[in-house]
Amino acid sequence: MTVDATQPYDDANIFAKLVRGEIPSRRVYEDEHSIVFHDIAPWAPVHLLAVPKGRYVSWDDFSASASAEEIVSLTRAIGQAARDAGLVERGYRLIANTGLDSHAEVPHLHVHILAGRALGPMLA
Ligand code: C5P
Repeated sequence: MTVDATQPYDDANIFAKLVRGEIPSRRVYEDEHSIVFHDIAPWAPVHLLAVPKGRYVSWDDFSASASAEEIVSLTRAIGQAARDAGLVERGYRLIANTGLDSHAEVPHLHVHILAGRALGPMLA
């Protein structure tokens, strides 16, 4: 199922449970507003997901209504997790699938951090 970016936030979604600590995750970074953890089914040798702790469906509502502190937190979380994982020298790719055409599957904003091999041109 793909996520409609205009749908209301669903507190039962899998990342909401993960943020609340109701299901386990391999966390590599956490601050007041954001966490970063390993993707359960990696697309690349390094595949992390950065998520806000707040209730945002996608980049659309996050960019429109998150606080400045939340936006700064997620940005810093991504950069810090990438540095901590040693990704800066070879680089990494960020993806935030948003809305029906993006094929987003989880209705809680997440930014993919992909690295660890030459990723080639952008995905089709
Ligand atoms: O951008 P999209 O919504 O398609 O990505 C969802 C990602 O969440 C997938 O890469 C999937 O492997 C990951 N996932 C996870 N842990 C779960 C459920 C999904 O890391 N429990």
